[in-house]
Amino acid sequence: MLDLTPAKLAERSALRVNPCKTCQPVGAMYAALGVHRCLPHSHGSQGCASYHRTLLSRHFKEPAAASTSSFTEGASVFGGGANLKASVRNVFDIYNPDIIAVHTTCLSETIGDDLKAFIQDIDIPEGKLVVHTNTPSYVGSHINGFYNMMTGFISYLAKSAGTPNGKLAVFPGFVNPGDMREIKRILKAFGADFTLFPDTSGVLDAPMTGRYEMYPSGGTTLAEIAGLGDCTATLALGELTSDEPANALKRKHGVPYRLLPLPIGVSFTDRLMIALSKEKKVEVPTELEEERGQLVDVMLDAHFHYSGKKAAVFGDPDTVLGLAGLVLEMGMIPKYLLTGTSGSAFVKLAENLFRRHEVKDCLARESADLFELHQLIKNGKVDILIGTSYGKQIAKAEDIPFVRAGIPVLDRYGHSYFPIVGYRGGLRMLERISDALLDRQDRDAADEDLELVM
Ligand code: SF4
Repeated sequence: MLDLTPAKLAERSALRVNPCKTCQPVGAMYAALGVHRCLPHSHGSQGCASYHRTLLSRHFKEPAAASTSSFTEGASVFGGGANLKASVRNVFDIYNPDIIAVHTTCLSETIGDDLKAFIQDIDIPEGKLVVHTNTPSYVGSHINGFYNMMTGFISYLAKSAGTPNGKLAVFPGFVNPGDMREIKRILKAFGADFTLFPDTSGVLDAPMTGRYEMYPSGGTTLAEIAGLGDCTATLALGELTSDEPANALKRKHGVPYRLLPLPIGVSFTDRLMIALSKEKKVEVPTELEEERGQLVDVMLDAHFHYSGKKAAVFGDPDTVLGLAGLVLEMGMIPKYLLTGTSGSAFVKLAENLFRRHEVKDCLARESADLFELHQLIKNGKVDILIGTSYGKQIAKAEDIPFVRAGIPVLDRYGHSYFPIVGYRGGLRMLERISDALLDRQDRDAADEDLELVM
């Protein structure tokens, strides 16, 4: 009989069943879509580009535009330099972006294509730009691809004129356009002059106008990226996603940075408020204080419904840590925290959270998969499952309430438009978590016990 205890499950090193991550180029493509008039370009065969675009399009319910070097046998054997050269010429001629952001794939990495040398050798039209990053998909995950692409933009484009421009650089982490809008609203409430990079709001949540626009109005502009080198400081949101690009900007132009958790829940959002208050030397705006008060109020009102309930949270590392913080503030126990992205820092940060909130018997796992999560839940049941659409089968099989959060949510509409960050995002998540628990309570209650008033 199979031994499926946590210790045995953790021993697997060469097998993933239902991975809890996807490959680097997906993240690179998402970062590039957050740059105004940028076309992401996949340097590999068509299947990779097709898969990456499909995943993003299914989550955002919007077309995710991208081009490909379209490798066949010749490029696979002799290298893809000629393909890239022809692609860049064709893309600028036909689709007219301002910039092409090239990322590699497993194939082009394996044959050792030197993208930097290829790009130097291309006759790029006047006023147009090409940048690249390496995204070997057999290491890391879409999170690494996301920050690698950001670092690629910074290394090619960020400049310094030597005079600070008074702006804050803000790196939002791997979050939805709705979260990016919320982060911008918070920054504006503080009166901050800022560059949010990347910014997929207005790109992947652009309104229906009846006209197809290949390059919608949103996205960080090239001038804003160039100006990153003169920003006074960087606020890097998501300790496991934004550290690398913030560090790259610091190394290149000496821009100091504060590394913060994703602002999900009360205390992690407080950390952003304190950082902004210090940077801008102003008090926290009243409207944001009120939102905090509302979140705490609802948390207190409903606490007896979720206090002590056990949750399993899975998905991208910073999102899971942020949601774990919220769940703990609600008095729940985050029994299993799981991410497919590798890195022991995730486990350390999760264990810090467990210690700070004095909860016992909780487990954090990195480089994990959903098979493992399912077995853990079978061995020790939870009251609610929180994560991406991929948790649906586990929730159904184990009959557990399920709250969708993070990326991707493929089987529901509208998720990417709404934030989970900030006090407002916290309130929304709190509502959804408590609704899921109360819906379950109602489903299981006898007719005469159905409560109409809490
Ligand atoms: S071959 Fe590599 S880059 Fe292409 S889809 Fe598969 S994992 Fe991603």
